[in-house]
Amino acid sequence: MRILIVEDETRLADALSQILGEAKYQTDVVYDGQDGLDYAATGQYDAVVLDVMLPRMDGFAVVRALRAQGVATPVILLTARGELTDKIHGLDCGADDYMTKPFAPEELLARLRAMLRRQGDVVLDTLHFADLTLELSTNTLTCGAKSVRLGYKEFEVLRILMANAKQIVPKETLIVKVWGAESGAEDNNVEAYISFLRKKFFFLGSHVTIGTVRKVGYLLEDEG
Ligand code: CA
Repeated sequence: MRILIVEDETRLADALSQILGEAKYQTDVVYDGQDGLDYAATGQYDAVVLDVMLPRMDGFAVVRALRAQGVATPVILLTARGELTDKIHGLDCGADDYMTKPFAPEELLARLRAMLRRQGDVVLDTLHFADLTLELSTNTLTCGAKSVRLGYKEFEVLRILMANAKQIVPKETLIVKVWGAESGAEDNNVEAYISFLRKKFFFLGSHVTIGTVRKVGYLLEDEG
């Protein structure tokens, strides 16, 4: 699980990073709203902890921009103001939860777990695209009467492509989410798994293809 922390108070940002790190989350920290948006828009995070009062772009605008770009990553807003209108505004902008500063670390962790669990519930059974169905509990890919069991990395790559089916998925996102940022995995690792998946699609008789957008990434396409 990889969490993005967007918080301009460096001491709080560092404390959050430490707390989440101790809870075995991987974290990245940025200190203003524009960086927050740029990082979160890559879609590589499982959740974003987002302060409201930020330089360059406030937290409300960041969430709104993310949702407008089709990025569904769960967001928990940190607001210094306990105003009800702020909370409602935050949720209306597309945030999933909010916390009022100051807060106990345990509460943030509990809310993150709940948020990630809810997200898990949504994606836990199956993903569909055109004639393909991916069963997430068994790693099984089905097309019509045929099905195949996918290996772990094939499954993870396809899960990300199907969860972002209307968007180009950058190679970098696949590397970070499937192999890990420090893994040393390269573009040709991703290409190998894309090629395995294309063979599976062919075997299944699917009309779905994985389009390559040169120097950018991949996009699922329905050629049916
Ligand atoms: Ca702030």
